[in-house]
Amino acid sequence: MSIQIPQFVPQEVCLKCEGCCRFKEQRSPWRPKVTEREASVLEKKGLSLLEKIFDGNVVDSDSYIKAINLKGGCQCSFFDSNSNTCRVYVDRPFECQFYPFLLEKREEAFLISVHLSCPHIQETEHNESFQLFVKELKELFSQPETHSFLFTHPELAGDYSEFADEIMPLFSLPIKSI
Ligand code: SF4
Repeated sequence: MSIQIPQFVPQEVCLKCEGCCRFKEQRSPWRPKVTEREASVLEKKGLSLLEKIFDGNVVDSDSYIKAINLKGGCQCSFFDSNSNTCRVYVDRPFECQFYPFLLEKREEAFLISVHLSCPHIQETEHNESFQLFVKELKELFSQPETHSFLFTHPELAGDYSEFADEIMPLFSLPIKSI
């Protein structure tokens, strides 16, 4: 199963940004992690170039989408740097839909945070629209379907502890309540 995540950052803002989908190094923790189901959907996309590079396997053994070296940096295998778009946008994984919001696992709780490096978050984090969106997320994460999704896929929770100064915690969801 998967869940539909409402989008906070308008698409036109994302299309102009030069941050997402690009990473400092090939094994960056900012690459999206995917569930088995998401990996299977991506690998069925039949992207022949990627199959040639990765022998048909675009997800590594830790469930992260592989990154490729390009223009002195790295980028997600599915990123098209010419158009600044995702080649699997309709099927992009949960983590990509959720960003700039982040999911972490802290002992007995899932922690929902936001990445302050996103330029749109920097512009809006003190606005009412941001507070309303966080309220909407809280409601979404209180739904049984969302609990079930998180419980089934705890591997999606990342570890961003080394980036604590870039991250603002929003709310947590006790695992016992799931
Ligand atoms: S799957 Fe698409 S949205 Fe996600 S990181 Fe890769 S290019 Fe970006």
